[in-house]
Amino acid sequence: MSRIYMDHAATTPVRSEVLDAMLPYFNPEFGNASSVYSWGRSAHQALDVARDKVAQLLAAEANEIIFTSGGSEGANLAIKGVAWAYQNKGKHLITSAIEHHAVLDTVLWLKKQGFEVTVLPVDEEGMVSPAQVADALRPDTILVSIMHANNEVGTIQPIAEIGAIVREHGAFFHTDAVQTAGVLELNVQELNVDLLSLSAHKLYGPKGVGALYCRKGVRLEPLIHGGAQERRRRAGTENVAGIVGLARALELAREEQEAENERLTKLRDRLLEGLQQIPYTKVNGSLTHRLPNNVNVCFQYIEGESMLLNLDLKGIAASSGSACTSGSLDPSHVLLAMGLTHEIAHGSLRLTLGRSTTEADIDFVLQEVPVIVERLRQMSPLFQG
Ligand SMILES: *Cc1c(COP(=O)(O)O)cnc(C)c1O
Repeated sequence: MSRIYMDHAATTPVRSEVLDAMLPYFNPEFGNASSVYSWGRSAHQALDVARDKVAQLLAAEANEIIFTSGGSEGANLAIKGVAWAYQNKGKHLITSAIEHHAVLDTVLWLKKQGFEVTVLPVDEEGMVSPAQVADALRPDTILVSIMHANNEVGTIQPIAEIGAIVREHGAFFHTDAVQTAGVLELNVQELNVDLLSLSAHKLYGPKGVGALYCRKGVRLEPLIHGGAQERRRRAGTENVAGIVGLARALELAREEQEAENERLTKLRDRLLEGLQQIPYTKVNGSLTHRLPNNVNVCFQYIEGESMLLNLDLKGIAASSGSACTSGSLDPSHVLLAMGLTHEIAHGSLRLTLGRSTTEADIDFVLQEVPVIVERLRQMSPLFQG
């Protein structure tokens, strides 16, 4: 049986060009970048080159890039780092109800430590309103964190507009760009952000490595103390091979971005259109401000989890809600924030396309899904069809 991977929002395979770039830094160039001899210098140089590349792709400066272990650490460092460094200035933080748990749980943890938190609602498409951000800002607001695009429903937020409002007010602005890095242009100047986090494994790089952009002048209290790496903002011997892989993956994505987005948008729209032919089906998210690879629908009267198991039997890998919430019976906090009922939210299916996705994959999914939905509905006591 052939296998169809349609869960690119969860993770992506390392592409061969990225692996090739990384391999020398496991061996022979395995040195510690802090060492003075040639192995160390080679590692140090690789880090410099990678940092320059990442900075350039974000329109940032090299010393504004902090390498991390991924998106979760980036969000934690941005949020806790700013909160702790500026707590004497104010203790109010703003975020949205549809953030990834890496942001949401960090902010809620800070709340338990005595910070005040405003969690903004979203509209039925999952959009955060800039006007609501403006209304929520207070004299003691130190940080606003709003994600660039949502990992479940693909909604792309008006980050530049929100950023301008936050800057005008004098607070700092972080965006979780894990889902947009390698997909949309990420120019930190045009986006009006002070902090931006991204992760390699969502863009055909390795797991366990990412980057945080931190604008010059923004102080961060480190999460990890120890050596002087990353200008004392993140101690620990650098993941040289991973960082080289991250930079190469971002660079390749940037080169191919335009053509790949065009290709994926067509496939996405065909899939969305086909799935909507199934009765009692609702598309989640925005049709206009949407990631080119995201499809998210709810099939009334069925459980997303049973859907996933049935798809897996056909070799199709998909997701229901986010990877972090699947396994629990709670429906997605994102869909609930968008106003869906628990019942409807339970029947959600997310299919996220990627480099490997072909027309034939879409055809196969459109052939199998209606059959599975029909079969599951026949078994459901709620379905009268
Ligand atoms: C995957 C993801 C993260 C977490 O990134 P990791 O590198 O897996 O820690 C954070 N935010 C969003 C939107 C994501 O999709």
